[in-house]
Amino acid sequence: MAATIIDGKAVSKKIRQQLTEDVARFISETRITPGLAVVLVGDDPASHTYVRSKEKSTVKAGMYSEVYRLAATTSEAELLNLVDKLNKDNKIHGILVQLPLPGHIDELKVLNAIDPRKDVDGFHPMNAGNLFIGQESFIPCTPHGIMELLADAGVSLQGKHAVVVGRSNIVGKPVAMLLLQQHATVTICHSRTADLGAITRQADVLVVAVGRPNFITGEMIKPGAVVIDVGINRVDGKLVGDVDFESAQAVAGHLTPVPGGVGPMTITMLLKNTLVAAQRCR
Ligand code: NDP
Repeated sequence: MAATIIDGKAVSKKIRQQLTEDVARFISETRITPGLAVVLVGDDPASHTYVRSKEKSTVKAGMYSEVYRLAATTSEAELLNLVDKLNKDNKIHGILVQLPLPGHIDELKVLNAIDPRKDVDGFHPMNAGNLFIGQESFIPCTPHGIMELLADAGVSLQGKHAVVVGRSNIVGKPVAMLLLQQHATVTICHSRTADLGAITRQADVLVVAVGRPNFITGEMIKPGAVVIDVGINRVDGKLVGDVDFESAQAVAGHLTPVPGGVGPMTITMLLKNTLVAAQRCR
């Protein structure tokens, strides 16, 4: 039987409707409009598209948006000055510096300069550390979105074997932590994992964040498994995931498509984190 498709667009729409109501209620109760500042350095076309989409979604949710589009030649000191200014700005509750930054800027230094209380991307070491020890933190948006998709699909994680392929700080590691918090038994795989297929075939829940088109094929999937495809790859002008959709669909129990799976959830979680940041600063 073909896998049930997890519709990220529909889940995202539902959450955004609720969020818009929550934002309106928060504003009427507090007279505070949650504000998100997005900082973009350079000319990367994909980054410009993402930032435009973030700006539009923020305004649509009833929040205040500021976008800084800086030249690729912006110095690290200039960027750090802007982050410092935004840290002190009462209108701004969330700060997002769009990655990647140009090579002459130390990414970690900039992320570390963001006030952790405004770090709605959840990349500051304090938030990453809090996630690790199970304390309140801002959860990075993509892993957060994945957990919402699993919850919406009614996937119970307790006692399940979850396999995460990819160990990046923005997807693989945080999603592994979140799955662990939900009492899954978690295995993390990476480029040096031996016999990857033997491990992915044991997964009740398989999360793939590798960045290689159609990398996980049907024969690497346990029949009935829940498969979350995080990958966004451009092949011949088309977006494809890290999971080979056709062969996976015939084996998996649930499967996220690309596009329309995890992708739409990322901005939704950014908006959610911005509201939470505003609520916490009262
Ligand atoms: P990174 O490049 O930071 O990490 C990729 C990971 O995949 C690494 O841990 C790497 O292992 C592992 N890997 C690479 N090759 C193999 C292999 N042959 N076998 C097993 N593991 C391998 O990528 P990201 O985590 O940032 O992103 C992953 C994908 O998700 C990309 O396609 C990206 O575009 C997409 N993405 C989508 C988002 C969304 O909103 N839907 C948001 C963020 C990312 P090692 O550590 O050993 O090098």
